[in-house]
Formats: sequence, structure tokens, C-alpha cells
Amino acid sequence: MPDLIPGVPPLAALLGRCPRCAKGKLFNGFLKLNKTCSACGLDLAFADADDGAAVFIMLIVGGLVVGAALTVEIKYEPPFWVHAVIFLPLILVLSLGALRLLKGLTTGLQYRYLGNPDSRRGRGPLH
Ligand SMILES: [Zn+2]
Repeated sequence: MPDLIPGVPPLAALLGRCPRCAKGKLFNGFLKLNKTCSACGLDLAFADADDGAAVFIMLIVGGLVVGAALTVEIKYEPPFWVHAVIFLPLILVLSLGALRLLKGLTTGLQYRYLGNPDSRRGRGPLH
């Protein structure tokens, strides 16, 4: 088993890497998690982001895009189609990009602080 690196799990997972070894890929595709790490064999069944990442994205991206749309509307008063052309793709790109990042971060935080398989066996970064 590779050496454990304290503090790495959330950052490594944010970047799409295994929260234990920071070498194996976390995702199989765009948003689906691998079942195990290809480098260290960590069982990723503990990772369950549920709607946690989506809620933060709705709040953060929604606030940013609505604020930007209101600013554009107040300053320039463009026709409706301009809002649709600018802000609908922006919402899509920001939401999907942030979803992958926050799903990885959620997985890393779960590994670090909640019931990951290593900590249950007393080998985790906190033990
Ligand atoms: Zn790994």
C-alpha cells in the first residue's frame, strides 16, 4: 500500500485523483466514480456525494449567473434572445464543470473525515 499523505485527500479528489494515493483516477467518465482505485485498490463504495455537490452548485452558480444576468439587463437592456444565448450555455458549462470538481471534493472530504475504509481499520490519515 502506498504511503498516506495527510491533507492530500480533499485536494487530490478535487483534481479527480484517488483520495488515498492521489495517483489513480477517481472518475470513470465525466461524473461516474470508479468502483476501485486503479493504482492502490481503494474501494470507493464509501463515497456517496448524494445531492450535496448539486445543492452548492445551485446556490453558487445560480447566484453568479442571476447576478450577471441582472447586471447585463440593468446596464444594457438587451433583447431576451441575448440573455438566452449568453446565460443558458454559461449555466450549463459552469454547472457541469463545478459538479465534477465538487463531487471529487465531496469524495475526498468523505474519505478524510467520515467512514472511509482505511479509518475503520485504523490505517487512515487521521489514525
Ligand atoms: Zn488510489
